[in-house]
Amino acid sequence: MPRDSARSEWISYLRVSTHEQAERDLSLPAQRHAVEEYAARHGVKIAREYVEAGCSGTSSKRKAFRKMLEDVLRPNSTVGTVVVHHTSRFTRDSTEARLVKQRLRKEGVRVLSVCQETTEDPIGNLIEGIFECIDQYESEVNGMRTSLAMMESIRQGYFPSSWTPYGFRRVKVEIRPGVARWTLEHQEEETKTVRVLFQLYVAGSGAKSVAIQLNERGLLYRRGRPWSTKRVLHVLDEPAVAGTYYWGRWSTKRKTRSHEAEWVPLPVAPIVTPAVHELAMKLRKQREPSQRPGRPVSPANLLAGIVRCGKCGASYQLETSGKRVRGDRYEYRYYNCSKFCRIGGAVCAGYRIPTHVLDQAVLAHLAGIICTPERAEALGRKAHAASADPDKLRRTWAVLLTGGGPISRSYVLHLVDHVEVRENEIRIVARTAAAPAEEVAKESAAL
Ligand SMILES: [Zn+2]
Repeated sequence: MPRDSARSEWISYLRVSTHEQAERDLSLPAQRHAVEEYAARHGVKIAREYVEAGCSGTSSKRKAFRKMLEDVLRPNSTVGTVVVHHTSRFTRDSTEARLVKQRLRKEGVRVLSVCQETTEDPIGNLIEGIFECIDQYESEVNGMRTSLAMMESIRQGYFPSSWTPYGFRRVKVEIRPGVARWTLEHQEEETKTVRVLFQLYVAGSGAKSVAIQLNERGLLYRRGRPWSTKRVLHVLDEPAVAGTYYWGRWSTKRKTRSHEAEWVPLPVAPIVTPAVHELAMKLRKQREPSQRPGRPVSPANLLAGIVRCGKCGASYQLETSGKRVRGDRYEYRYYNCSKFCRIGGAVCAGYRIPTHVLDQAVLAHLAGIICTPERAEALGRKAHAASADPDKLRRTWAVLLTGGGPISRSYVLHLVDHVEVRENEIRIVARTAAAPAEEVAKESAAL
């Protein structure tokens, strides 16, 4: 391939994963030395190096790699050659390798590997592809070995993860000189809070209420952060509090829950008694909204997602009072600050406003924007008979808009950027004063 004369610079990309850091021939200085020597043999100096330390070749979080691509692919870049020590340094994902190299080749940039010199022809491409497949295969086999070693370590009673469930801490154990393992032990302060959390929950409080009560008592979550509904549910759902930690409940790569048969159990000292835990789990099941047939999923509300708290900036959400009227429906529904709802008054005082009040206020405002006499006239000519009275049309729209007529949510979103709510103020930030006439016509035609 002819080299673009403007792209004459050579750069290097060095990478070492946490695992490989220990191995000498893969260390960063060894890679740097090999790459520089290789460049010197070609009579070139490495202009810049991009270094990735402690990052796996299958990770998508490789900052230096992305920065390198960004710099190289810039239109006025002078880089024509990227040198790596070994193809596996570039990436251990063979699909990524093909795609990225193809993209680079299009810009006149080649990737050279010191250890595997190939030719720039079909045979060279084939061989490079084989190297890339081997890199990926090695990575997968390593992953399997690591996983097997981890399972064995758990069977021996050691804790494999760096993240500990709430209520626990890791304690280092030296099993042989220089070889450390971890066990999972109680974290005294946290276990106290876990017990209070369970007591409140089985005594009848919902997860949200438990979070608020814990915060009020000053029993905070880790690092002084307040409890939220989600954090409370997380503790309730953690099997370790009842005496068994399970490794592999989540597949990190796929970010999905893995099958129960794949979980590896690690017995730990329980924090709550079996009776309390069993009761809490029973309640948890009953209170789970999806477990309650007949309760309507919260009806799509007109302004969801565009209302913000005028005090703290958090989004507004539906705040239900728990009062049931007419079967299972709440007669009044309210919007309130989501911080207030999740964490409580200590973070933001919030402001509760009935949904219909806010909906009406926004619609009335929109009617004012949309129903200009000119637009009414224009639309009157377009959608109705030319003789239609624009004044009458305008009044009809205003009624439709403010009277809670079938205004579509997407239509409101089209017009309103966001709404800010405080005690004494509702601020409506419209996207545009020029409302799309066609959509107004569509709305009125649908009636
Ligand atoms: Zn707020």
